[in-house]
Amino acid sequence: LIQLYIPLNFLGIVYREIRQALTDIERMFNLLKENQEIADAADARDLPAGPLQINFDAVHFAYEANRQILKNLSFAIPPGKTVAVVGHSGAGKSTLARLLYRFYDVTGGAIRINGHDLRSLRQSSLRAAIGIVPQDTVLFNDTIFYNINYGRPDASREEVVAAARAAQLHEFIESLPLKYETKVGERGLKLSGGEKQRVAIARALLKNPPILIFDEATSALDSATERAIQSQLEQVAVGHTTLVIAHRLSTVMNADEILVMSDGHIIERGTHPELLAAGGHYATMWMLQQQEEDLSVPST
Ligand code: ATP
Repeated sequence: LIQLYIPLNFLGIVYREIRQALTDIERMFNLLKENQEIADAADARDLPAGPLQINFDAVHFAYEANRQILKNLSFAIPPGKTVAVVGHSGAGKSTLARLLYRFYDVTGGAIRINGHDLRSLRQSSLRAAIGIVPQDTVLFNDTIFYNINYGRPDASREEVVAAARAAQLHEFIESLPLKYETKVGERGLKLSGGEKQRVAIARALLKNPPILIFDEATSALDSATERAIQSQLEQVAVGHTTLVIAHRLSTVMNADEILVMSDGHIIERGTHPELLAAGGHYATMWMLQQQEEDLSVPST
């Protein structure tokens, strides 16, 4: 059996590596393709400077004509506040982030920032105002310095180090033989999921945009890493208008509003205590997740 197991296990590793590489390539092509589909209006203008409010007003969206993904969705994120979206896989959570970044245009209703329809804004100005901490950060095959600096290429070395410190990455980097000059990415040092997410946080901190989107990793991080990232995200979010796409409920407890999505609708909304008191879907999801966490704690 062991003779069979080793080659199978090896194949599994190779398959995962290839699939990961393909995912990244696919993502880049998708970005290129998606960017081409959206063009600036002739009279497009820049977003004003200062605090920004986001409104989704009766938004409808379909990737393909015959399959509605978002159905009449309305919510607001006031300047500096955090709204978190939860719901089962496929409910449409990440789609909200893609629409806010204008990878696609809505098929009904409107998304507005400070009252301006996204379709009336210059894309370069919209995207400069948004920082994304994605589910799975793609690292360039370059130094860790380059990978953080990418958040704002004109930043000084001191600012890059300050961002790394704030993302709790500096000590880790200093422990590497080549420090900030360490090569990372597919052909360099492989970083863990938590470390990669910290690079993304450092990038976002360096960019310091008024709007932040956190697309939480679906893959399980160990609970100490998860708590550390959670508290970093909360610190980073202070003063930013923030949309959190959450896959675990423990990360949304402190949001100003939580939206529970199912099948493209918002089925419940409120703060964590309000939703628990309501005893609905959120309360049930919370109870189930607590039970799962209790079960996953190894007994000693
Ligand atoms: P998860 O928690 O698994 O990340 P989600 O709630 O974020 O899920 P979305 O990624 O928003 O879900 O997807 C919502 C629906 O839209 C899914 O049914 C998905 O299959 C579909 N979908 C997503 N991207 C595309 C696309 N590019 N083309 C067609 N359908 C898509």
